Amino acid sequence: MLQRTRYILTGWYVLITLSVSIVFSVFIYTGVSRPLKDFSRLSELNKQNSVLTTPFPPPKPPLPFPTDVTPEMIEARVRTLLILVNIVLVFVSAGTGYFLAGKSLQPVKKILGEQNQFISDASHELRAPLTAIRTDLEVTLMNKQLDKEAQRVLRSNLDEVIYLQNLANDLLELNRYENEKNALHFTPNSLLDISERAITGVLPLLKEKQVTVDNQIQDSKVWGDKSSLVRLCTILLENAIKYSDARKIIALHSKLEGSNLIVKVVDQGIGIDEEDKKRIFDRFYRADKARSRYETPGYGLGLAIASLIVQKHAGHISVKSTFGKGSTFTVSLPLRSI
Ligand code: ADP
Repeated sequence: MLQRTRYILTGWYVLITLSVSIVFSVFIYTGVSRPLKDFSRLSELNKQNSVLTTPFPPPKPPLPFPTDVTPEMIEARVRTLLILVNIVLVFVSAGTGYFLAGKSLQPVKKILGEQNQFISDASHELRAPLTAIRTDLEVTLMNKQLDKEAQRVLRSNLDEVIYLQNLANDLLELNRYENEKNALHFTPNSLLDISERAITGVLPLLKEKQVTVDNQIQDSKVWGDKSSLVRLCTILLENAIKYSDARKIIALHSKLEGSNLIVKVVDQGIGIDEEDKKRIFDRFYRADKARSRYETPGYGLGLAIASLIVQKHAGHISVKSTFGKGSTFTVSLPLRSI
């Protein structure tokens, strides 16, 4: 992300420097060429006048001018020189801009690193006590002598703990994908196998909602980190199930398009409106704030993780949706020579 910003800043440096230089060059060029043009017009007139009015002896030119250098030649030379200066300036300003952009982004990089480290440490620290509380609650709930009210309270606490545990796990996962040092393990994989693994992972959700998956994936090879690709597919399937009514069908399609592999997850769910479409890939963004997490569990990190996974695979993710009718998430992954 920072590297991209560095390139963008460099582009701006070059653009600004070049615009200033072009304006100056135009001034210099017009400043030089105008008197030269006047001069050559004047000497032309003088020549004609001298032929008409002074037959003999021929008058001297108004200003001595070397015979081998004409005003047009000077103009061309100035033009070439200015073009050359501007070309050199593009390279110099690109180099300097890249260096300066790197320098100015250094503090941002440091802050981002510290922030990531903080999220990672906090999530790690939270996981151990949450696991302990969860185990205690589960064990306590096994006690049949607990009265109904105590059971209700403990169950609600358990739900909260599970929610926090999942949140800590997702934050860690997001952090892992954001941290460039954590290289993924790229191998050739079967797309069909990945889709089937993801479907198996969401079977409880499918059963609960009585939603079916129509898996139309063509088996082709996909180059990438296997667990990340399964996770990507799982996130899109989980969302398709979560945001669909009961007994709907979710379809998975794939095709080869040029040098890309296209995978589509099509649902007949509630759809996403235009305004939300621009933001659903942001962290913690949930389209309908009124929809409480008790109705559709989640915290708006799924698509942020999905988009990071796609980014790490040099791919692209997009969504098309008609509000109230359904959504189609399309992932495009570049095919590599396997
Ligand atoms: P979460 O599902 O945990 O809220 P996500 O990042 O996975 O978080 O999704 C962000 C938001 O995008 C969701 O809150 C939901 O409003 C919207 N969304 C994602 N997938 C779908 C879908 N298939 N159909 C409708 N809305 C969706």
